[in-house]
Formats: sequence, C-alpha cells, structure tokens
Amino acid sequence: MKLNELKLTNPYLGLPDECYDRVEASPLDKPYLIHANKAVAKILNIDESELDTDDFVKFLNGDHSVEGSDTFAMCYAGHQFGYFVPRLGDGRAINIGTIDKLQLQLKGAGVTEYSRNGDGRAVLRSSIREYLASEAMEGLSIPTTYCLGLIGSEHDVRREQIEKAAIVCRVSPTWVRFGTFEYFASQGMFEELKALADYVIDENFPHLKGKNDVYTMLFNEVMVITSRLMAQWMSVGFTHGVMNTDNMSIAGLTIDYGPYAFLDDFRHENVSNHTDTEGRYSFTNQPEVAKWNLQRLMQALSPLADMDKMEKILLIYDKIYIRYLHYYMCKKLGLEGTVEGDPELIDDMFDMLETLHVDYTLFMRTLSHYEGDREALLSTGLYHNPMNDWLDRYDARIKQIDKTERKKQMLRANPKYVLKNYMIQEAIDAANIGDFSVVDDLFKIAKNPFEEYPEFERWAGATPKEFKNQKLSCSS
Ligand code: AMP
Ligand code: MG
Repeated sequence: MKLNELKLTNPYLGLPDECYDRVEASPLDKPYLIHANKAVAKILNIDESELDTDDFVKFLNGDHSVEGSDTFAMCYAGHQFGYFVPRLGDGRAINIGTIDKLQLQLKGAGVTEYSRNGDGRAVLRSSIREYLASEAMEGLSIPTTYCLGLIGSEHDVRREQIEKAAIVCRVSPTWVRFGTFEYFASQGMFEELKALADYVIDENFPHLKGKNDVYTMLFNEVMVITSRLMAQWMSVGFTHGVMNTDNMSIAGLTIDYGPYAFLDDFRHENVSNHTDTEGRYSFTNQPEVAKWNLQRLMQALSPLADMDKMEKILLIYDKIYIRYLHYYMCKKLGLEGTVEGDPELIDDMFDMLETLHVDYTLFMRTLSHYEGDREALLSTGLYHNPMNDWLDRYDARIKQIDKTERKKQMLRANPKYVLKNYMIQEAIDAANIGDFSVVDDLFKIAKNPFEEYPEFERWAGATPKEFKNQKLSCSS
C-alpha cells in the first residue's frame, strides 16, 4: 500500500477525554531518513518502495496527514525508583493512529500536555539506541515494541551539550503501561479505570472477553507474560536500566529503551543506569522488581478485581519465573528438558562465569560448539579450575544427548552477537559525523544475531577491556 492509501483508526480515543491530550506533532527542521525497517513496513502493509520517498520522511516527521489520523498523547502515572509520581504521560511521544491493531507513535515529535519541563524532543543518540535495541530484541525473539523508521534532523536540542534531535516511529500492539492503570486508580477515576481495562482486553487479550472475573484473569495473564519476559531478559543478559512502572508494558513487551545494556562479562550486580546509585534496577534484581511492579498494578486494579485472588496469583510468580528461566537456560545449554540437578548446574555456571570474568555471550556461543576440547572455552576466563570443574559436570549431563542435535539447538539459542553498548556507541559516534553505515551494520546483526558474519567478527568477541560494564546516563 502507498502511504497516501493508508487508513488509520484511533480506538484509544474511544476512552474518556481524561485519558489523553489531543495534540499535533511539531515536525523537526530539515529531517532526513536514517533507517527504515522493511519488515515492520511489511507488517503494516506499507510498500517497500515508499520507504525511500520524501513522503516517508514527512510521515515519520509528523508532517504528513494520513486518512483517519487523529494525533494524541496518553496520560499515565508511575512509580519511579520506588516513588509514586501521580502524573507523567507521553511527554514527547505523539500517537498517530492504529493499523491492524498496531499503534504508531512518533517519539520526539514535540511537547504535549504531559511534557512538564521537557522539550518534547529525543536526541539522535538515544533514538539510535532505541531503534537498534528493539530490532535486537526482535532478533532474539523477545517480546518488544518495534520501530518503523528513524529520522535525523538539523534541529538543535540542549542536553549536557547541544545535540541534534531525531524521531523514531515506534509501533506496538499497545502503549498502555502499568502506570496508565495507576493514574486512574490514584485519581479515583474508577469508570475510566474500567474503560481502560476493557479497552486493553479488547485490543490485547480478546480471548478473555466475557469470562468470569475478567479483571482478575487479566492480572493473571499480565503476571505470566511479565515473568516470562524477565526470564528471557535474564537468559540473554539484558539489563533494562529503568524498570519504573511507567516503563512496564501491560502486554509484557520490552518498552522504553533508555540506559539498557547487554552484559559484557557476566555480573549479577551489573547496573547500566548511571543515576541508579542504589542498584535498584541491577541485572539480578529485575525479576524481583517486576514482581514489585506487579504489586503496584495489583493495587491499581483493586477497584475492579478481588485483592485476595490477585494476591494468590502473585504468590506463584516466583515459581513461574523460575520455570521459564530454566526452560530458556536449558535450551541454551542444549539440554532436553529440565531434570534434577539442572537448576544447580545453571546457577553454578553463572557464579563460575562471574568469578572468572567471562564474557557471557561469547561463552555461551563457544559452548555451543563444544565437543570435548576445552581450550576455546578456557581461554574466555581468567583462570581454569572452576571452569574445568563445571565442564566436568556439564560433560556428565550431556553424555546421553545426541551431539549434532545439541549443537544445532544451541546455535539457535545462543546468539553470536548481542548489541553491547560499546558497539552502539561506535554507531552513534559515526552518526554524529553523518556516517550511518554502522547503524546499518548493527541493524543487520541485530536482525539475525544467530548468523555468522565474517565481516563483523570483531563484534563477536569479548568486549574490549576499556569498554566493559560502563554505565549510561538517563538523559535522552
Ligand atoms: P523515560 O525515562 O524516557 O521513560 O521518561 C519518563 C517521563 O519523562 C515520560 O513521561 C516521558 O514522556 C518524559 N520525558 C522524558 N524526556 C522528555 C523530554 N525531552 N520532553 C518531555 N518529556 C520527556
Ligand atoms: Mg518511559
């Protein structure tokens, strides 16, 4: 379909007026295309030939009216670092409408009623990070929001220094967050709360419609998909960095990519966010924080659903999370199902990797090729004994498993590449001087991280020492 044939709908605007602010995008000066995501365009039924037209740039810049588009920003609240902020909302994201249940949003497209002191803009650096990370998650089959395209501009914005503004067009089956529910509950707006829950069920959980105790069931589903998401993050070594309740998708997706990081060396306590001085959102804390966030959601839903029942549901969160974690880790270890002793084998592997300062992605990929010769594996760590001990146990465990099958499964479960921050920084540094080729390269490996790319071999090794475990600022 051509861009001018698109028809957008806006089901969210069927909710009461208090749920949003109708606002138009403020386009950027001299916009230009940096990257277009062909696969996402295809899902949206947009012709590939449209992606290198001026109209596409205008579309991403909010400067192109599409039939049915009625632009708005959404209102939400949220617990940020444990403290409740009663009113947040899309301070710089303008929703432009829905195509086939997928909602398009322009992040960085100007101020809204919810901008507070912000300028409604997003800098190029953080937009590149969001664009690449969402593709990386998709490549790893981890639920995520998508990006349709990324534009840069000559528009100056002030952060710690003057930077250029950009816009990413984000696409998701929902932009509702735990914090959206918290907003209505905390305002005592129970009719709006119910309308929001019904809307979410209609759009994202249609199989629940008409069920008894439907809001309790909604909570149950969100609990399950959130626990699965946490297990997936933990299994690939992803630290989100800002797990505030306003950054938790009601549909169990990874959203709002800020100071995230894929692990370099395996470190339980890895903290990627520079402002997180207490380590609240450290790598290892994520499953527990997600549970805490689910408690906030549970409280927000309490006017609609039975608190006792929801509390019981939350009691099984740990068990479900661990089951998922073991499921994903057993796949990564090439084990068929989880048997007695596997949980200890997994935990001890993590401890061993941490002790030996081993690059997590490199180790798992190298282990996928392991057939008894330990040299390549041992060279990933500082010293040998703990790894030899662990490998003795692993050898015993895989003895009965077919070698070829195991290798096949492991190469599908252990990416050759993850987008570590030093790699993305390389793309940003080049982009800042007008060279977007590294964005293209990283997009390619993000999309298919299980493939081998001889030309990108340098990104498959351990992170260079000087770039390991760096923290990122929240400013974006
Ligand atoms: P984040 O940390 O990106 O999840 O943002 C937290 C809140 O601050 C959200 O409500 C954002 O919309 C808002 N926000 C962040 N940056 C800006 C900005 N430059 N202008 C306006 N609002 C912003
Ligand atoms: Mg956010």
